[in-house]
Amino acid sequence: MQKKGTILLILYCLIALLPSGVAYLSWVSTKSFMYELGRNIAFVALMIIALQFFLASRLHEIESPFGFDVVIRFHRYMGIFATVLLLCHPLLLAVGGHGWHLIYGLQLPWFIWFGKVALLLLVVNILLSLYQTTLSVKFERWRLIHDILGPTILILIFFHSWFAGNDLRLDIMKILWIIIFGFTLAVYMFHRFIRPKLLKNNPYRVSDVKTEADDVWTIKLKPADGSSVFNYAPGQFQFITFYRDRQLPVEEHHWTISSSPAQKNYISSTIKALGDFTSTIGQTRVGDTASVQGPFGRFSYLYHPEEKNLVFLAGGIGITPLMSMLRHMRDTKSNHMVVLIYGNEDEHQIIFREELSQIETEGYPKLNVFHVLHKPPAKWTGETGYIDKEKIQKFGGEKLHEKIFYVCGPPPMVGSIIKSLKQLGVPDRQIRMEVFSFLD
Ligand SMILES: Cc1cc2nc3c(=O)[nH]c(=O)nc-3n(C[C@H](O)[C@H](O)[C@H](O)COP(=O)(O)OP(=O)(O)OC[C@H]3O[C@@H](n4cnc5c(N)ncnc54)[C@H](O)[C@@H]3O)c2cc1C
Repeated sequence: MQKKGTILLILYCLIALLPSGVAYLSWVSTKSFMYELGRNIAFVALMIIALQFFLASRLHEIESPFGFDVVIRFHRYMGIFATVLLLCHPLLLAVGGHGWHLIYGLQLPWFIWFGKVALLLLVVNILLSLYQTTLSVKFERWRLIHDILGPTILILIFFHSWFAGNDLRLDIMKILWIIIFGFTLAVYMFHRFIRPKLLKNNPYRVSDVKTEADDVWTIKLKPADGSSVFNYAPGQFQFITFYRDRQLPVEEHHWTISSSPAQKNYISSTIKALGDFTSTIGQTRVGDTASVQGPFGRFSYLYHPEEKNLVFLAGGIGITPLMSMLRHMRDTKSNHMVVLIYGNEDEHQIIFREELSQIETEGYPKLNVFHVLHKPPAKWTGETGYIDKEKIQKFGGEKLHEKIFYVCGPPPMVGSIIKSLKQLGVPDRQIRMEVFSFLD
């Protein structure tokens, strides 16, 4: 996997530098250094923008070596980087001899205006993505705007770069441009239109809806055609779109797969009502259909088979990937040693309580569960408060800094646990985390 990731990164750099390389080999420049710099950073930025579509398309080959969260974070940083480069592009051209009318002039050819509009839309796109929550833009609205702005910017920069200057005077550059932009648009069309249609034509059917705790349900899904579910590692997640009629919303959301991959004929997600859409999850019925795409992520003990001594730290609904791993360990009679410290607000919010104690009794894996409640009932004899340094030290067992920690929960909780682990001297490489948001 590491090798595959390195190859992909090298490939990314080569593609980003490809037009500059071809241009360098194809003609001798007579322009100033600043002008050349301005031109070449635009080439690199255009390629980064084209590659953004590949990063965001959930292509298995790109996602699997890194994990979805890493790819999305990279997509975000590269978007900012490309925007900065493109903001410098006209300035460097102006300094390099093109003249300042390029910046403030109004009598400019249409393709220069295309470039200017593309740059403006790019800045809007970046700001909206960075400040979506601060600006109170609903996720679905942001996604729709992002989906429209992306290809619009791509088309505008295609025409701008095709006609501006004489960079594309050679046939080889023209062919390169057509291939790059053609492929990019094809990936976009596949991701946004063709694959959703294919998934809808091969639906899953809801086979069970179970109430697990306050506002938490497990939805079990089976392929409608009776085939086996896709292969996945315990701890990975999936995208689900429910089609429930009854005027319930149709939206795609990501949820961890809470079932064990040892179970081949169904897949489940355990979902908490946390917002607009999830508050309708309890209205899902047996027989409803859904599109399912997965698996994604690398938060799984199966990627590290040599590590046997694990500490799981979960907050609330963050138990789901850890539960999938525990179920898989149980089903495969694994000899792992696991300590689970599970924090919840109150007793009614504890999910999978009975099943966890059953696994603890059965002995596969060798599991010790410690519940921590923030608002315990009067009769509660367990731990109280939040999962902190003291509790990790108390229940984590001996040689804490040699163990592997899997942390999952809401962003603030994960942040504070990571801080505690670092204070306890646990090296970064022994901490694996899953945060239930890609926006933080
Ligand atoms: C890797 C991962 C695994 C997760 N696993 C689980 C799980 O096992 N169980 C569980 O209950 N929750 C899980 N979540 C959280 C779940 O995805 C959100 O609770 C859910 O999408 C919120 O939707 P909402 O419209 O009800 O809430 P809202 O209040 O409308 O949205 C809250 C936030 O959820 C995100 N969000 C909303 N809509 C979407 C969407 N269509 N696509 C993507 N993100 C969106 C946005 O960050 C938004 O700000 C997981 C999240 C991630 C990133």
